[in-house]
Amino acid sequence: MIVDLRSDTVTKPTPGMLQAMMDAEVGDDVFGEDPAINELESKLAGMFGMEAGLFCPSGTMSNQIAIKCFTNPLDELIADQTAHVYRYEGGGIAFNSGVSTRLLNGERGIITAEMIAPEINSENVHFPHTSLVVLENTVNKGGGSCYTLEQIAPIAKLCKEHNLKLHLDGARIFNALAYTGDKAIDYGQYFDGISVCLSKGLGAPVGSVFLADTTTIKYARRVRKVFGGGMRQAGFLAAACIYALDNHVERLKIDHANAALLASELAKLPWVSGVVPAETNIVLFDTVEPADIVAKKLEEKGIRAIPTARNRIRFVLHLDVTPEQIAYAVKSLKEI
Ligand SMILES: *Cc1c(COP(=O)(O)O)cnc(C)c1O
Repeated sequence: MIVDLRSDTVTKPTPGMLQAMMDAEVGDDVFGEDPAINELESKLAGMFGMEAGLFCPSGTMSNQIAIKCFTNPLDELIADQTAHVYRYEGGGIAFNSGVSTRLLNGERGIITAEMIAPEINSENVHFPHTSLVVLENTVNKGGGSCYTLEQIAPIAKLCKEHNLKLHLDGARIFNALAYTGDKAIDYGQYFDGISVCLSKGLGAPVGSVFLADTTTIKYARRVRKVFGGGMRQAGFLAAACIYALDNHVERLKIDHANAALLASELAKLPWVSGVVPAETNIVLFDTVEPADIVAKKLEEKGIRAIPTARNRIRFVLHLDVTPEQIAYAVKSLKEI
């Protein structure tokens, strides 16, 4: 049996999703004429209390478009040192926007207004102009750690006071909502921009939506075209995303329960030296032996996972992990 825990991006469309794609009504989205894309954009904007949305082919593109919209060259943005926008988007902040990055040491990637405040540059010709703060919820590299809206509110207040934009990399925002109990609709008041991914835990094959106000989205549409992300009859993909929103949000709780179960089983094993408490669908654990050796042993059992540091391995739970696979994984981990 193969249990693929490398990432929540490995899911394949379900029969219901494929049917929704087949049934999609599409048009040329560069002309603004794709009904499925228009529906997805306005559906998500409505859900998060934002004015408008822009369908993008990847979370990287929607984040990079956000950064382009909210900064000018020679500006600086503030983010945690684990931030996806900084670590895993190929240096795009500098390349696409000509912006430098000020990194903070948050707790599992979670930063606070107190940490941000002293890092905002004053007006001085020596300093890059601070114009943007980026938060990530959940934090990928933090092992799926979450912000609550209560933690976000003081950051948003600080940003307003200093005239900074606030962007959310919400690649796994629905996992955060499932964990915190916060409501999507309450997010809009705090953020200038939100990126939502449909191709992570929600199981769509492709898709991310950048949410913001109407003026920003109008400009973002230009930036997306320049980045090469102006797609034509991409409504077939948007239909999969709509299906995911309608059918795969509630079930994220199952992934979280599976992550918690694997975390508690791992904590009992002699070859595991530590487990980061699993809040959502990601389990990070430390191994006594080097992680690449352990990963090979796991692979031999059919359990696929990615080492994320010399002695650390990551399991990510998702839609395609069945109860049978979980039972098999629990049994097999004991045999490593
Ligand atoms: C996966 C991910 C993204 C977007 O990745 P793509 O592969 O470009 O869709 C952005 N932010 C975080 C935190 C992610 O985990």
